[in-house]
Amino acid sequence: EFRETDANRLPEDAPEAGLRPQTLADFTGQKASRENLSIFIEAAKVRGEALDHVLLHGPPGLGKTTLAQIVARELGVGFRATSGPVIQRAGDLAAILTNLQPRDVLFIDEIHRLQPAIEEVLYPAMEDFQLDLIIGEGPAARSVRIDLAPFTLVAATTRAGLLATPLRDRFGIPLRLVFYTPDELRTIVSRAAEKLGMRLTAEGAEEIARRSRGTPRIAGRLLRRVRDFALVSKHAVVDRPLADAALSRLEVDEIGLDAMDRRYLRRIAEHHHGGPVGVETLAAALAEARDTLEDVVEPYLIQEGLVLRTSRGRMLGEAGWRHLGLVPPSGNPV
Ligand code: ADP
Repeated sequence: EFRETDANRLPEDAPEAGLRPQTLADFTGQKASRENLSIFIEAAKVRGEALDHVLLHGPPGLGKTTLAQIVARELGVGFRATSGPVIQRAGDLAAILTNLQPRDVLFIDEIHRLQPAIEEVLYPAMEDFQLDLIIGEGPAARSVRIDLAPFTLVAATTRAGLLATPLRDRFGIPLRLVFYTPDELRTIVSRAAEKLGMRLTAEGAEEIARRSRGTPRIAGRLLRRVRDFALVSKHAVVDRPLADAALSRLEVDEIGLDAMDRRYLRRIAEHHHGGPVGVETLAAALAEARDTLEDVVEPYLIQEGLVLRTSRGRMLGEAGWRHLGLVPPSGNPV
């Protein structure tokens, strides 16, 4: 049985649902996480116990939700999904928890956005499969304890550092997801094209993969836009030149950066001589939320060496200067 509730996805993710890999074997990339999960899932099944709680952390679009669903499927148990900001009251969480069947997977996306009062409810639930609820108000209030079915919490967050330590410590299986290599993305793009009934050459797939910022969600999005482009320009087959033309039109540059990425890099170069500059200053100047910069924009730029995170703020890396076609000012300690 596979139950699914609204996991707070972007509407444009809906068409991706059919593209999600369904099993661990089908899941490309994240070798370390996949191998660990496979062992722990196997052991839980042999023992007939609920799998230990799993914390998936990493930038958006790397497959956290997909892996959570796969965990439930591989365990052969039910799947319920919700997210931190959706749970407004302790009662909401209690309702979800008391409805779980033994060994079910409960997926909480954006767990770092759970309110502290609700986190408190989660602690005994995770540790002892018990719920302590206060019923009534004032002098008539009393506390009741409810036993829960043993369950597995699979939680996702963009940064593990955003979680309170007591919460983080309650996950027996913390897994960090990393950006995908161009090769892994090429496999993902080719498989997705096949599922979409689209003719894509190996070079076309490579071009899309190379320009997807290491992120399967972006790869899927670009693939669909390239498909639209091919349809309208009446091309039956998507090859490298066609993919390149479509991606350039989408302002995705040759290393996969989008307009926001380039604005961010240019800001540091042109207004701060390459930095260091604080993230708050950048967020204000670019009219973006600080969280968006830290969770969505910066991780890939940092991994690629375009930006450096120092104790005094962000600095443009040598690759960043080169990408902008600029020379670092002399004396700049890059
Ligand atoms: P997250 O929860 O980390 O934001 P998702 O699990 O929603 O990411 O994944 C985003 C999209 O990327 C999904 O719709 C899925 O189709 C695709 N995807 C993610 N990881 C993989 C993978 N390893 N192989 C193929 N597709 C993937």
